[in-house]
Amino acid sequence: MTPAKAILPLTASLLLFGLLATPASADPPEVVVSIKPVHSLVAAIMQGVGAPDLIVDGAASPHTYALKPSNARALQSAKVVFWVGPGMEAFLEKPLSALGSNALVVELDKAPGIAKLKFRQGGAFEADDDGDEPAANAGGSDDHGAFDTHLWLDPHNAKAMTAEITTTLVAADPANALSYEANQKALDDKLDALDAEIASTIAPIKDKPFIVFHDAYQYFERRYGVRVAGSITVSPESIPGAQRVAEIHGKVADLGATCVFAEPQFEPKLVNVVIQGTSAKSGVLDPEAATLPQGPDLYFNLMRGIANSLKSCLS
Ligand SMILES: [Zn+2]
Repeated sequence: MTPAKAILPLTASLLLFGLLATPASADPPEVVVSIKPVHSLVAAIMQGVGAPDLIVDGAASPHTYALKPSNARALQSAKVVFWVGPGMEAFLEKPLSALGSNALVVELDKAPGIAKLKFRQGGAFEADDDGDEPAANAGGSDDHGAFDTHLWLDPHNAKAMTAEITTTLVAADPANALSYEANQKALDDKLDALDAEIASTIAPIKDKPFIVFHDAYQYFERRYGVRVAGSITVSPESIPGAQRVAEIHGKVADLGATCVFAEPQFEPKLVNVVIQGTSAKSGVLDPEAATLPQGPDLYFNLMRGIANSLKSCLS
């Protein structure tokens, strides 16, 4: 027998061994997720089965994202797509409607059990009223009058999303149903523990008002009873004008020893202008996880990060 011929049966037996060594369940479907916080929940449900693909990765913001060719290809081959909805990922609205029936597209802002809050308008949360708001914002994301789509900043909403994600994956991939369901149970328990932990972290600073960069924190505020006194901008797409910045500066001066929080993706200079000449401090909050590595732990690091930043700046 020549060496070349000997290789064939060896390869065949390795392949056979490989197949036998693989668990009985089938390959998971290709799953694509829009943004990091939701991707983290999907990754936790799929642990041990597969890994979902992420669209808005790295330090990008869902508010200003433009779809890349690689994202478009991932969507084309996806069997399941999870996103929050057009109020959060406006850039996905057209690509998703063009996908056809190959993919199951799940809009999580419609999941049963999700609590929704309206965007705040007026006073401290008003957008520019001096007429220099960019026209591009009209019809864009974070539409005034629509609800706030930063839904994940309340672990109760995360649990409602997790239930919808699990139901969807079980239907799309029944062979791995037991894994998805076991992962959901474990994730629910972890989310309950996180909820209790954040409540106790936040307790000492509950009544201290602070200013945030964009109006993203209502769900966190309502769950933990913290007090956002205003935002520099309602949505990061609209750059605040001079009058707006002056208003917030006045507010910060009135509040005295407060904190003004920047966000990693957006201009920190504005925060410095707003606290200039006041006794306020500045900190950073990262509600969309721009600085965190993706994966099942991201959601927990994101929520703990917000709680810890608030506590260290306000105590
Ligand atoms: Zn946002």
